[in-house]
Amino acid sequence: MARVTLDTLRKEFDRGTIVAVDDIDLEIEDGEFVTVVGPSGCGKTTTLRMVAGLEEPTSGAVRFDDEDVTEVHAKERPVAMVFQNYALYPHKTVMGNMEFGLKMSTDMTPDERRERVTEMAEMMGIEDLLDDKPDELSGGQKQRVALGRAIAREPEVFLFDEPLSNLDAKLRTEMRAEIQKLQKEFGVTAMYVTHDQEEAMTMGDRLAILNDGELQQVGKPTEVYENPVNEFVAGFIGSPSMNFIDVAVETDGSSATIRDDDAGLAFDLSDEYVAGHELENAPYTLGIRPENIRIVENPTGDETLTSTVEVVEPIGSDNYVHLAINEDFLARSPPDVLPEPGDEVGVAFDEADIHLFDAETGEDV
Ligand code: ADP
Ligand code: MG
Repeated sequence: MARVTLDTLRKEFDRGTIVAVDDIDLEIEDGEFVTVVGPSGCGKTTTLRMVAGLEEPTSGAVRFDDEDVTEVHAKERPVAMVFQNYALYPHKTVMGNMEFGLKMSTDMTPDERRERVTEMAEMMGIEDLLDDKPDELSGGQKQRVALGRAIAREPEVFLFDEPLSNLDAKLRTEMRAEIQKLQKEFGVTAMYVTHDQEEAMTMGDRLAILNDGELQQVGKPTEVYENPVNEFVAGFIGSPSMNFIDVAVETDGSSATIRDDDAGLAFDLSDEYVAGHELENAPYTLGIRPENIRIVENPTGDETLTSTVEVVEPIGSDNYVHLAINEDFLARSPPDVLPEPGDEVGVAFDEADIHLFDAETGEDV
């Protein structure tokens, strides 16, 4: 198997007017599963296509272990790719589809190929479908065929481009687990591209967040969730999203208060917090996750602020409480905290759970 290195990888389109991938450095360890996540158009597919050899980089390099494969033709690279639209040949049977990759990339005999495909089909639970054509299959079955076809080639690197986007929610959850199981079983290095932050949080050993062609942060899902490096990552990772409030910090260097007069927020930071952060008298964006907010149904006045409840959404395990702070401010409360729309409630959170971002750069401070 192979370690995959992206070395200052860059792709421009239309004579440099579009920078799709902006000098990305990323190393995926041998056998590691890295999820690349970011909004539509941020350069995920282009990055993946450069690793596959389907797109030529403008500059930079791709290495498999120590070998520079930047100039190596796609067919010669030990990679298999799985796409959102399955990319099955409509006129071939499942057997024909799964066999085709082997025909192209190995010198196996027809018997050997059929044996390998049958084995893979059994593993994927699609052995009864081998004589069917793609249009006779459900979305989930098609994706299993595409996965089986990819793994049958015994690639060293497995590339996924939003493979679950066309499936319904239940099937997506099922296939998420299945893909991870397959990847670990075969010990293959995997790069998985998605715009879905939930897939990114649940699937990867590490995740890499991309925005506008630039790599924002790489780390274990929990690390990124707990310590986002900037406002973009903070808002993108985590569901429901982090709440943001524009605030001013007033500090004399040893103590500090966070203030937002519109929201009626005045929050004294501890001396330890001030000592551990380089705060200035300046505007910041305060971030706080919905699950870190406590709703106090009978406010005592000691809470961080008070607000009016706008909408309450019970989701079974918890309640989503929408508050009249900014356009929308969401708190996630335990089932027994169930205020009514119109209620005045206290809103409390701990200093340890807040994130402060430079209002200008968006960087975490
Ligand atoms: P993602 O997969 O994250 O949605 P893409 O990698 O497909 O993003 O695209 C990144 C950017 O590059 C987009 O602005 C897209 O319009 C542009 N782009 C992608 N492929 C081409 C191309 N062949 N020609 C011109 N622009 C392209
Ligand atoms: Mg894409």
